[in-house]
Amino acid sequence: FWVSNLPSMVPAVSMRALTKRFDDVVAVDALDLDIADGEFFALLGPSGCGKTTTLRMIAGLEIPSAGSLKIHGDEVGTLPPNKRPVNTVFQNYALFPHMSIADNVGFGLRMQKTPKADVARRVGEAIELVRLTGMEHRRPNQLSGGQQQRVALARALVNRPKVLLLDEPLAALDLKLRQGMQFELKQLQREVGITFVFVTHDQEEALSMADRIGVMGDGELLQVGTPEEIYDQPVNRFVADFIGRSNFLPGTVEDSSTVCLTNGTRVVVDHAGTTGEAIALSLRPERVQLVDRGAVPDGHASLDGTIGAVTFLGSGVVYHVTLDWMTIEVRAENRPSVARREVGDDVSLWWRDDAVAVV
Ligand code: ATP
Repeated sequence: FWVSNLPSMVPAVSMRALTKRFDDVVAVDALDLDIADGEFFALLGPSGCGKTTTLRMIAGLEIPSAGSLKIHGDEVGTLPPNKRPVNTVFQNYALFPHMSIADNVGFGLRMQKTPKADVARRVGEAIELVRLTGMEHRRPNQLSGGQQQRVALARALVNRPKVLLLDEPLAALDLKLRQGMQFELKQLQREVGITFVFVTHDQEEALSMADRIGVMGDGELLQVGTPEEIYDQPVNRFVADFIGRSNFLPGTVEDSSTVCLTNGTRVVVDHAGTTGEAIALSLRPERVQLVDRGAVPDGHASLDGTIGAVTFLGSGVVYHVTLDWMTIEVRAENRPSVARREVGDDVSLWWRDDAVAVV
């Protein structure tokens, strides 16, 4: 039933120079992006970066000011929402309070005058898919937030859209439930094989669910890549700072493969940039190796410091290591084999060559 055809080579969504202006605000600035058929794609960025406007253009709820927008190869520029092979799940679910769950899910099909027997069958299947079987006759206010969320999903999936658009669908849930739903949503997407385009400002959500992430800032697409690429090879400081935590070690490019940090330490990197350019090395807290003072393996740049603060997190321990020119955050695992440090301990820091990104 959930036709998981082989993915098409034609992108599910294709944008070229897609732009949206509201008076003098450029909300979306010349976006070029292809989202593959069957992909789980997250648009990620801070509030106001233009991600919702992008999603609303795909949905047909905003008309682009310029550029091209294709869904499965067809230009959809000004097609109304109900003529597009897409459906949207909104943050607030927008369920009808006076209708049963089954009636909520079947509403769109009934509006399309689908034969009664088909409606019943497809509603049953959609409800089973989101694991709400047995709750068909309840009303939305008799369900938990997570269950209401699933009703909204079932309602969006029941007419088999080619692309499902999700606008921060988990934002209203508490942390534990949200994490559970992240996993479920990902499983569900695999099962149905529908392209999901997901908008979120929550980097952890994007990293844990998406096949690829597009990071937006100020109306522009700054980087598109797999969660690993975005996290390990951020293209600039904005992306490195927005995704996860990072230390930014200031320095200057000495030659194409050497950076000289502010304190004079030389670090060898892949592509340093242009000689004389002021840059920073992005170094993730969990990629820093913390050792006894001087116990750094040969051939690695290192920094000496003192433990300034210790924060126990359960799964790990965060150390703030004070150098005489900056403070570096280090995250160590909470395992018996990893030595614990105390405030005041003299330590050295080092990292593997691939642990740093020039930003
Ligand atoms: P959030 O996470 O807060 O929803 P966002 O990244 O989704 O933010 P958008 O809602 O797309 O951002 O907004 C992008 C920019 O466009 C913002 O500066 C916003 O103020 C502006 N904007 C959005 N919708 C309208 C509108 N209908 N009229 C005027 N300006 C708008």
